[in-house]
Amino acid sequence: MMRYEPQAYQCCTAASVYYSARQLHGLNRLGDCYCPGVAGLPCFSASGAALDIDRLAHAMHPQDRADFGLLLDMAARLPSPLLSLLLRLFNQAETFRFAPLRLARLGTAGVVYSLYYGFAGPGGAQVRNGLGWDAAIRTVLPGEPPMNQLVRDAAPNLAPDADEVVAVFKRARNAHLDIAALSLKQRLAVLDNLCQVIVRRRAEIIARVTEETGKCASDALLGEIFAVIDNLEYLRRHACKVLADRKMPTPLAMLGKQSRVWYEPLGTILVIAPWNYPFYQAIVPISIAFAAGNAVVHKPSEFTPLRGLIESILAEAGFAPDWAQVVYGTGSVGATCLAQRPDKLFFTGSVATGKKVMAQAADLLVPVELELGGKDAMLVFADSNLERSVAGAMWGAFTNTGQSCTSIERCYVERPLYDRFLALLVSQTRKLTLGTSSDHDIGTMTTPTQIEIVRAHLADALAKGATQHTGQDWDGQSAAIPPIVLSNVTHEMCVMQEESFGPFLPVMPFDSEAEAITLANQTIYGLSACVWSGDKARAERVARQLKVGNVSINNHMITEGNHALPFGGAKQSGIGRFKGEEGLRGFCNVKAVMVDGNSAKIEANWYPFTTAKYEALDKMTVASRIRGLGGIIRFALAGLPLEQLANKLGKQGRQR
Ligand code: NAD
Repeated sequence: MMRYEPQAYQCCTAASVYYSARQLHGLNRLGDCYCPGVAGLPCFSASGAALDIDRLAHAMHPQDRADFGLLLDMAARLPSPLLSLLLRLFNQAETFRFAPLRLARLGTAGVVYSLYYGFAGPGGAQVRNGLGWDAAIRTVLPGEPPMNQLVRDAAPNLAPDADEVVAVFKRARNAHLDIAALSLKQRLAVLDNLCQVIVRRRAEIIARVTEETGKCASDALLGEIFAVIDNLEYLRRHACKVLADRKMPTPLAMLGKQSRVWYEPLGTILVIAPWNYPFYQAIVPISIAFAAGNAVVHKPSEFTPLRGLIESILAEAGFAPDWAQVVYGTGSVGATCLAQRPDKLFFTGSVATGKKVMAQAADLLVPVELELGGKDAMLVFADSNLERSVAGAMWGAFTNTGQSCTSIERCYVERPLYDRFLALLVSQTRKLTLGTSSDHDIGTMTTPTQIEIVRAHLADALAKGATQHTGQDWDGQSAAIPPIVLSNVTHEMCVMQEESFGPFLPVMPFDSEAEAITLANQTIYGLSACVWSGDKARAERVARQLKVGNVSINNHMITEGNHALPFGGAKQSGIGRFKGEEGLRGFCNVKAVMVDGNSAKIEANWYPFTTAKYEALDKMTVASRIRGLGGIIRFALAGLPLEQLANKLGKQGRQR
């Protein structure tokens, strides 16, 4: 049986609606005295139960809530032995018959035990807690997931109600004013702290991500840590320049005025995220939106909530609790969040859900950015380096167990290279290892739905005549799906048309450049693609004809890896661009500004309109189209009398 030792509250300093990070810290310390981790159960602070305090606090009378907060403050400050002693004293209250002590014991123990045992449900063994009380709870049996896993699995059922979501957005709107009052440099300093916290806590983050997604450690390190740090580094280096006020050209007709663009925060950004990169999909949009001066409400996927982790990391970096709040729950909670009319929705997920959220957002006139699914094609020409293109194909298709929006989902190889490419691909794929440790290549699938899609796509392909070269030992149910290489595939098969999101690599030959382009474009998706060839001019020519948002040449997914580049989809793969200059400015109200002098001048296009003025304006309109020095002279000759006339008419007003 597993035994959990008390931890240093590392996962439980998350933002709470009612209590500060310090008070949550106090709650964890208090809880650890009652529940120090025995009989296969985690200690209180390791269970993540403190994060659920808002459920209880919400139901408390405001005065009780405040009083309990005082107690938590006290618990945060008292040295552990003293706190423990005090609670033992509470426990002896009956002996001393001192009512306040007894009440304090009932109150604190009641809250702590409700949080701690509230998740576990009925039945199970009698367990003696830290103070010697018996409690009927469900114990963790050998081989079962640990208690904190059970707690997180219960998370979708602990979704906030509509009133709580309203309160979250109210706090976000207030927080936005505080964030906007910070200078960009101050915000970037917070993001720099965030980068340091992530580097310091990377092992813990990787462990949580791996536990919830099933991905292998290397995928977690590269996709969730390295990529996030890289993005924060891009912001640190470039955000000031990208968000700086810009001077814009001013036309001759507006001589004397100045033109500017200001990049201002939008307000509150709602981020709705998928399950495939739960840490990256939280931190990257939160940090870009925050750099631009916005408050964020983040709704993670119900499958990989990383409950408490994001709040804890942000709090440690110096984010105030309301700057970026996390709301847990299923799609319906996402819809409730959207109903609060955020200033922008940043949604990442499937095409089907993208359509739903866009319809809801249209009704509310909330601007949307949609980062949706893909069916990325890899085009390999015969002059490509064989070993490199095969290695690239395997990584591009199987990374994150194929559960990346930009995974290679279709591979087209020029016929002269096809047989050798397929043979090497099959032999190399057979060498890949399955598992989640740092010594494994491919992790497990994350959701049962996705396993079922892979099973159905495989069955469909085989029924329609595909040849399966690897992964024949998969039982069609296990989350550990071996990488599957298919040949003899056609565009009538689901595996060549619909997003599989699994470790599949169907390979198909092509005979000409034109055919390769046609095949690659033959899908509703347009997220990204890659072209492999020794002929750079040809590769670029082909790349220009692919209807996608991102394309890599002689590599895959590197556009996504470079945070200076915009990322997004064409066709049904999405709307808008994320990251890079476009992404940063996408979280801004792009404000056009013109500055004029405080002169006595009356503008030529103001009232009154007269026939003489019309004729002068007409001359100026024609002159404005003439290019070169002659045009400037003609424009000046037309403009000067017009200006005099406009001033005279403007000052005397229309004559009646
Ligand atoms: P999904 O569409 O099922 O869910 C995404 C999120 O939307 C989840 O948080 C879910 O709870 C929420 N949601 C569901 N219904 C909702 C509703 N009616 N209103 C508001 N929110 C709602 O997607 P998924 O299965 O979590 O993720 C996999 C998909 O995401 C794949 O299609 C993948 O290609 C795509 N994806 C795209 C990118 C990209 O950048 N283009 C990146 C990662 C994943």
